[in-house]
Amino acid sequence: MGTIDGLPPLRDVIRDHDLVARKALGQNFLLDLNLTAKIARAAGDLSAHDVLEVGPGPGGLTRGLLAEGARRVLAVEKDARCLPALTEIAAAYPGRLAVINGDALAVDVTAHLTPPIRIVANLPYNVGTELLIRWLTPAVWPPFWQSLTLMFQREVAERIVAKPRTDHYGRLALLAQWRAEARIVMTLPPEAFTPAPKVHSAVVHLTALPAPRYPADGAILQRITAMAFNQRRKMLRSSLKGMGADIEARLVAAGIPPTARAEEIGLEAFCALARSYD
Ligand code: SAM
Repeated sequence: MGTIDGLPPLRDVIRDHDLVARKALGQNFLLDLNLTAKIARAAGDLSAHDVLEVGPGPGGLTRGLLAEGARRVLAVEKDARCLPALTEIAAAYPGRLAVINGDALAVDVTAHLTPPIRIVANLPYNVGTELLIRWLTPAVWPPFWQSLTLMFQREVAERIVAKPRTDHYGRLALLAQWRAEARIVMTLPPEAFTPAPKVHSAVVHLTALPAPRYPADGAILQRITAMAFNQRRKMLRSSLKGMGADIEARLVAAGIPPTARAEEIGLEAFCALARSYD
């Protein structure tokens, strides 16, 4: 049976290039090109966008992005073994795929991309959260990207979209939802990957807001939420003692009961508290 793009099936690519998955690199590959095309579609219209893909591996998602019409894809892959397979894809889509062999945490990708930019990736689990936090905390807002469509372990995805008074609510939810719209668009069972990981996965789609949802200084907001959620079961008047002796009065002024716990407080109230330190 033919593939969506006339290139060999991914199982053959992996066999021919001897791409045995390496756990240390978080390698769990997607081999179903219909599924990777579906993930690419979840990113929205790609025809007018440059796309950054982190960790293309043998290229399943890369092929999905190109088949779905991405204007250009820049793929950053740490594992040099994958380069020949990616070169074959680049040849099938002339001028539309550039590959950098390197660590996505170390490469300055912005020099290679033209806005508007979408980021789409089946992230290696070991660096996924670190990359997300970087993309959410640039020096200036709006950021270089317009949207992020990212595969995470389902538990991490739930932490990104969580609302107050739920188990997964915490710093990551506040950070993501302060300046982006975040939703889970797909969940995948372990069997969708080769090799199958132990946990379920989910794709989160985040759209950058033009400005933060509520005004606040990012560094102060992060300091407050770190302190509050480090002792999430404690009352805020005690977990936030480090913010100063007058914390109780500041909480009251921000409309937060000093006896409340971090997990009960929404983004708007945390931003009001952060503004009291401006
Ligand atoms: N995109 C492919 C797919 O969906 O089948 C592979 C996804 S696999 C979960 C993660 C990929 O990220 C692997 O190819 C791995 O080699 C690569 N990777 C791991 N750490 C990386 C890093 N720091 N920078 C760039 N790529 C990395």
